[in-house]
Amino acid sequence: PKTAATPSAPPKILAGVRHVVAVASGKGGVGKSTTAVNLALGLRAKGLRVGILDADIHGPSIPTLLALHGRPRMGKDRRLLPMQSNGLLAMSMGMMVDAETAMVWRGPMVMSAITQMLADVDWGDLDVLIVDMPPGTGDAQLAIAQGTTLAGAVIVSTPQDLALVDARRGIAMFRKVDVPIIGLIENMAYFTCTDCGKQHALFGTGGAEAEARRLGVPFLGAVPLTMDLRAASDSGQPIVARDPDGMLGRLYVTMAEAVW
Ligand code: ADP
Repeated sequence: PKTAATPSAPPKILAGVRHVVAVASGKGGVGKSTTAVNLALGLRAKGLRVGILDADIHGPSIPTLLALHGRPRMGKDRRLLPMQSNGLLAMSMGMMVDAETAMVWRGPMVMSAITQMLADVDWGDLDVLIVDMPPGTGDAQLAIAQGTTLAGAVIVSTPQDLALVDARRGIAMFRKVDVPIIGLIENMAYFTCTDCGKQHALFGTGGAEAEARRLGVPFLGAVPLTMDLRAASDSGQPIVARDPDGMLGRLYVTMAEAVW
């Protein structure tokens, strides 16, 4: 990390934030960051003050999703000011550390970088801070779960068995540290063919919902695999910002209701 908290002053970790909510997945590439950003925008649409913290140290994608450029400015107490995009405050580990450097860090370094980032950003007053977690259930995840008071966690999974096995592990980890599971979201649930109009369940069907039932966690919804969603994410204006009244926009806004 390029910034340092002054050792003399105790860090005011997330002092002005009412609720910290983790968005997590067992595996990478299942759409965790996409979900985190769109849930954040769904909460924003309800008039809440929302921040998003990209803690995915090895593969930060919030800067792309929200078209954030440049570096965050330093505010008072030498703490970083989050950047702004689409009505959200945002900060990414990718703005503070070089992903290639972070790639070779061992657990303790990742943990201290995350703890430091939690202390070093001045979010001001927020209703909700969404934390886009690193995938998996290792040291980095524990550093966040233990370094903050998480109001709850949303787990994202594709319907595949392999992804679900990892999602189950994630749920077990949060339960172990007494973080309530807000619910499970199934991403890439199906694909609607633009030619024949049929729905194709590329990764199987109903797996996440059945798993949620088995684990006794709420099932929040199934998000299809769509070109619009991917294109909106790549453009830096996620689907909820671009098309809040469309099918996907409304779906995320509804799922965000479980978070607040
Ligand atoms: P993760 O955070 O789990 O690594 P991302 O949110 O970065 O995953 O998503 C990985 C890629 O898949 C991105 O290119 C994203 O735009 C795309 N993607 C995610 N969810 C969907 C979806 N439902 N439909 C189409 N593309 C998606």
